[in-house]
Amino acid sequence: MRKISFIFLAFLISMCFSFSTTNNTVRADNPESASILEIKQLISEIYISSLDEVKNRTAGSHGESAFADILSGKLSEMGLSFLPETESFTQSFSISDNKTSKNVVGFKNNNSENYVVIGAHYDSIYLEGLSYGFNDNLSGVVGTLQLAKKLSEVNLNYNIIVVFYGAEEVGCLGSKYFLSQLSSEIKNNILLSVNFDSIGSGDKLYYFHTDYPTQYGNIIDSFLSQQTNSFNKPNTNRLFSSLFNNDLNYTTISLNSDNSSYIKQGINSLFFFAGDLDTNNGLGFFEKQGYSKIMHNTDTEQVNISVFGDLFYENISAITDLCFNLFADESFNESNFYAGQIDVILYSDWALKILGVILIALIITGFYIFVNLKDKKKKQ
Ligand SMILES: [Zn+2]
Repeated sequence: MRKISFIFLAFLISMCFSFSTTNNTVRADNPESASILEIKQLISEIYISSLDEVKNRTAGSHGESAFADILSGKLSEMGLSFLPETESFTQSFSISDNKTSKNVVGFKNNNSENYVVIGAHYDSIYLEGLSYGFNDNLSGVVGTLQLAKKLSEVNLNYNIIVVFYGAEEVGCLGSKYFLSQLSSEIKNNILLSVNFDSIGSGDKLYYFHTDYPTQYGNIIDSFLSQQTNSFNKPNTNRLFSSLFNNDLNYTTISLNSDNSSYIKQGINSLFFFAGDLDTNNGLGFFEKQGYSKIMHNTDTEQVNISVFGDLFYENISAITDLCFNLFADESFNESNFYAGQIDVILYSDWALKILGVILIALIITGFYIFVNLKDKKKKQ
């Protein structure tokens, strides 16, 4: 029995190592670049100047609705229009018997049959004095606005849809609703959906392609040098990488945001996140500074900026610059590389848990049978 346990353990350990990744710290080359100044300006315009009204943006709240109006105004300023199926920048949906949330949706029509969706949730967790959703997810909202503005100013061979999702914190309801209302004509022609969630506060930047964990640094570097080749095929070992991976937290975190709604519909997605996933379930960067390890207890401007300083803005800028360079690049712009590339093998968190339980049950049963057989032999 010992030998068998050892072999099984060795198998598990080798699986863990074969899927583990290392991470590099990424910083923007020029901390005071124009895009960083633009990010600071945007934060002061849409957030600081109306903090009392928008600091509580819980799903269905007055603050969430007020923030939706501010974001609609921004999309209008950029000259974006409505999607063919909506009559305004906002799309309301019910989240409970007496509560309504809304998505804010803008459209840049480049007369193409293909679409790229960029987005972030704008609702947040609220705790008076402790959490006003600065990193989660004002950072993602500002990154999306900045990327949308840049993309709306260049000629692209695909249309851009910009979405600010409501009610993410209560189960990704906004993204689910958005996709449920989208015509199949659009839905089937989304080349890529990009989601920014909590992209400011962290020592490291991460991205996830579909639901497969990857390391930002080296891979993004190669995107920039040889984009078409290295942005490559979706991982087909998803079940294995999720079940036997010592980066299980990565997979879990990557499925905790609006990109999961796209993955579930088989739409190619990219998710960006800042953090330090190597320690304390990804929240070690706060604990190191003496703050609570619960991210949502420490999500004010004061805390985030006192811990990260300009790195907060640099992270947002690095991610939006990267996406812009990638999306505006000819190799992306002129090819349908992403269309229909996803091999939809969908294993939801629940399916994984059930499979895990079945696996453990099989191991225990096997062990029981083995011991029983041994006992019988002894008796004989
Ligand atoms: Zn979030």
